[in-house]
Amino acid sequence: MKKIALLGSTGSIGQSTLSICASYPDRFVPIAFAAGSNLDVAFEQTSTWRPQLVSLATEELAAQLTARLKAAGIGGVEVIYGAAGTVRVATLPEVDFVVSAIVGVAGLEATYAAVLAGKTIGLANKECLVAAGDLILAAAREKGVALLPIDSEHNAVHQCLRGGAASEVKQIWLTASGGPFRNTPLEEFANITPAQALKHPTWVMGQRITIDSATMLNKGLEIIEACRLFNLPPDRVKVTVHPQSTIHSLVEYVDGSILAQISVTDMRLPILYALAYPDRIPSDLTFDMTALAHLDFQQPDFARFPCLRLAYEAAAASQAHCIALNASDEVAVAAFLAGKIPFNGIPRTIEGVLALTKAQAPASITEVLSIDRAARELAQDIVQRA
Ligand code: NAD
Ligand code: MG
Repeated sequence: MKKIALLGSTGSIGQSTLSICASYPDRFVPIAFAAGSNLDVAFEQTSTWRPQLVSLATEELAAQLTARLKAAGIGGVEVIYGAAGTVRVATLPEVDFVVSAIVGVAGLEATYAAVLAGKTIGLANKECLVAAGDLILAAAREKGVALLPIDSEHNAVHQCLRGGAASEVKQIWLTASGGPFRNTPLEEFANITPAQALKHPTWVMGQRITIDSATMLNKGLEIIEACRLFNLPPDRVKVTVHPQSTIHSLVEYVDGSILAQISVTDMRLPILYALAYPDRIPSDLTFDMTALAHLDFQQPDFARFPCLRLAYEAAAASQAHCIALNASDEVAVAAFLAGKIPFNGIPRTIEGVLALTKAQAPASITEVLSIDRAARELAQDIVQRA
């Protein structure tokens, strides 16, 4: 029985993880949640799963959850809060496996703490590898911790890499759906609304990653995530636009063979793979072979999606640029969703922040977070002036 801590339990990945736990009650049991600010879902999850520990975003929310649990006659659950609460969930001694699914750099400290505590990690939160990949991987090597990617593309690459040695890999290909605006005329980009950008053609996900998929910054973050996870330079991580999202990614070997991973577009499968690794266990997530009848692939359009270019540039420039890429995007996406900047203001904000970022390689998580804060301030300035 694997005992699981779930960081970001109330989100899209968090809820899919609990659905896998419900399907395999004798294999996976969630015992600790970091639930953020969604009190209703946190209450429902706590009543259903009776975890040992639940952390909410604030003291006030924690008090409200405690009161609701008491009123419902539910005891034996410790309710805590804040960043320190999230770290306690991630490092609880009884936990074997931590699913890292908080959105944004907010998930970094707890994920790093889980690695230091020697937990196996199922990693959905790509932002922590973008901001601090070298530090996290060095800690994982030192502690002998497995980092199992849940992000579908990296999960696909992880599976395809079981087909050959690292030294035999020529390059990897990340597939991208191209998002909802793959064919929208460029002159309409300034008028794209949040409601339009939140309609992803193939995946149902949290708000930030859905907007990032529409700008293709998500693929940019995934390029950097892949460089860190698979120890490859950016020029060996390629992107191909594949609107059907049937092939989740591919590994090209030196002899010319290409291995691809194909499955349903359902995040429960990469979550199950990570939780069960190194085993494979039966599931009902079967793939309809007729979906292979039509597969398209195109070159990504860098003029339409400047975020993709900015990510390659940040990856080549320095670690501080990768941190700034993510931080400025977090600010810009929130501003776009709040109606403060237009859709094409997102890449403009990121580009403005990257231009002001000095090359640096932070030596600690504290330094990473300080570069992150500085980049957020620059991004807020640009948003305010827009
Ligand atoms: P989401 O917005 O649906 O959920 C985010 C979760 O994080 C929520 O539980 C929220 O309460 C929690 N949270 C946010 N800020 C927090 C904070 N400061 N402290 C504690 N908890 C906090 O997001 P999602 O779509 O589930 O994505 C989560 C992560 O997984 C992201 O990094 C995303 O890039 C990655 N990911 C998601 C998908 C997907 O299909 N949804 C696919 C690949 C990767
Ligand atoms: Mg992905």
